[in-house]
Amino acid sequence: MAWGGGWSGGGSMFAGSGTATGLPFGGIPSELMDEATKILSEEPEHEPSKRKFSQRPSARERQRLTLAHLIGAYPRWVTGGSLLVIIISLLLQAGPKLTEYAINNGMVAGHRSLSVVGGCGLLYLVMALASALLQRVQVDVTGKLASRVMHDLRIRVFTHFQRLSLDFFTDEKAGVLMSRMTSDIENLQQLIQDGISQFAMQGLTMIVITVVLFATNVTLAAWTVLLVVPLLFAFSIWFHVASERGYLLSRDRIANVLADLSESLYGIRVVTANNRQRRNILNHRHVVGAYRDANLYTGRVNAIYGPATIAIGILGQGLLLGIGGHMVLNHQLSIGALVAFFLYLNRFFGPIQLLVQQYNALQQGRSSIIRLRELLETPPTVDEVEGAPDLPTIEGRITFEHVSFGYDPSHLVLHDVNLEIAPGESVAFVGPTGAGKSTMAKLANRFYDPTSGRVLLDGVDIRTVTLRSLRSQLGVVPQEAFLFAGSIRTNLSFGRVDATSEEIEEAIDVVGLRDLVDRLPEGIDTVVHERGQTLSAGERQLLALARAFLARPRVLILDEATSSLDLQSETVIEHALDRLLEGRSAILIAHRLTTAQRADRIVVIDRGGIVEMGTPSELLGSGGAYAAMFDAWLASGGRDSTRAFEDDDEDEDS
Ligand code: ADP
Repeated sequence: MAWGGGWSGGGSMFAGSGTATGLPFGGIPSELMDEATKILSEEPEHEPSKRKFSQRPSARERQRLTLAHLIGAYPRWVTGGSLLVIIISLLLQAGPKLTEYAINNGMVAGHRSLSVVGGCGLLYLVMALASALLQRVQVDVTGKLASRVMHDLRIRVFTHFQRLSLDFFTDEKAGVLMSRMTSDIENLQQLIQDGISQFAMQGLTMIVITVVLFATNVTLAAWTVLLVVPLLFAFSIWFHVASERGYLLSRDRIANVLADLSESLYGIRVVTANNRQRRNILNHRHVVGAYRDANLYTGRVNAIYGPATIAIGILGQGLLLGIGGHMVLNHQLSIGALVAFFLYLNRFFGPIQLLVQQYNALQQGRSSIIRLRELLETPPTVDEVEGAPDLPTIEGRITFEHVSFGYDPSHLVLHDVNLEIAPGESVAFVGPTGAGKSTMAKLANRFYDPTSGRVLLDGVDIRTVTLRSLRSQLGVVPQEAFLFAGSIRTNLSFGRVDATSEEIEEAIDVVGLRDLVDRLPEGIDTVVHERGQTLSAGERQLLALARAFLARPRVLILDEATSSLDLQSETVIEHALDRLLEGRSAILIAHRLTTAQRADRIVVIDRGGIVEMGTPSELLGSGGAYAAMFDAWLASGGRDSTRAFEDDDEDEDS
């Protein structure tokens, strides 16, 4: 199977991880390879997904997330499953009736008949076999239904993630989102696969048995239904309330455990470097402890409920034995009927307990669906207006018009910023850390919308056009280049999947990565591991520049990496930047003043406002903030400019 067809099915993903993609998990061990090949050879080809992505959700995606809507998408499967459940419930309850018949007409004095007993036994067997067969089909049907529904839901949630704005991902922790995608969806799968059908089957069984009990003997049935059932019922309500509380609690707390885990694992370098292991263990003990407490609570509730219902059942049986036995002695009831009554009674308590057990699954599924619904109903803060037109091809004029902005609108980090960048002009933002440089860049890219004011591209308010057309004309090179697990080729063509090999090679030449690529065993098809940990910081940065070059954006937004590079890499990167900026408008968040010096214009930003603006030589000549920064930088031997600025600040303060 080709890896190319790979995103649509589990089988092909499996193939990928075993062969050339070099996922970090190391693939399939060689001793299992034969088995794996055999499985894969039987695996049907999966068509690549035809699903289209649009920024605005379709009518179906906007539909409120409920269980009914989810499974309602597969009416044939639902009908088939329901019919099977009904037939099976009826078949299963025929046994005691047959037993009654066999006793009354084949076993008691005056009615001994081997053929009646044998016939009943045979029928019993046939029904048992038939119900086993039907149950097999039913489990298959509900399993398939669950897989389909879950597949839809996974895609729907993931699609929603792709639509949501950046602020959502900064606010919510990755672990919490992961738990929505994994445990919440799995809970639902469990519910649809077993929960609902079990629930229906047990519910139906109870109804069938109640009817049969009354048909058998009204007095005995009345005792059962009026005394035992209400007791069990009241108890179950208590259980319902207590277990709901427990499940919500434990879901919340497992999400915290996952969040803590993922944070510690992703940040392991920082953790180790800062000797935070001890603190982390303490913290983890705390979140895990909270989760344990929630589980203990649920365990206690279960421990009370299970045995108590059994006790109620046994007491009920004792009561019925007394009353029923008395009736048999008075010839008000046949022995067969009493036996059937007991058999039914046993089957009556079973479903009540099972129903309550399934209640857990139902509870979990319900709280999962509530959480997923909340997630799906979170609107993107940066949204397209309905029917927004595409942004026509731009020249690259960027305008900030009275822009104020706060991540939290009550706390502004940019104050009434006005700036115009001409087409083809490169502008360097310099200033201390936290001044608002990256924030301005994020507004230009519409990762966020201004709290007031407007950001325009070629005179068009960027809020009025489609996000796709906007971002296809903007190239962003972030501070930390993110590389995905895959080859250099796939990483470079990330912003332009149709790029040819020649174009990729050209991009590599332009940014000066030729030496590196030639050294690699498989050239541009060499696999870089997730996050590019096998490459140096400089090489990752060059790859990010090559990626931007390949996408040929009209406007480039570059957040220069703060990590210090050796002189040679720095020269290579500066050269690459010069090529990248040719004829493009650019915003450069410059951490090195050498970069700022090469820009057409420098904008000094401090405390959310522009304090100085001009060509490098103008600013150096004016003796203002930038000139002071430059002097400090020269004196420090060319360190990070932001620090030079801060040192300057401190000097002023002291
Ligand atoms: P710079 O790029 O100049 O170092 P930023 O633009 O990143 O500064 O930050 C400007 C201010 O906004 C800082 O006070 C920073 O703490 C705050 N900030 C940055 N990102 C966020 C965020 N996602 N949520 C809330 N506040 C933020």
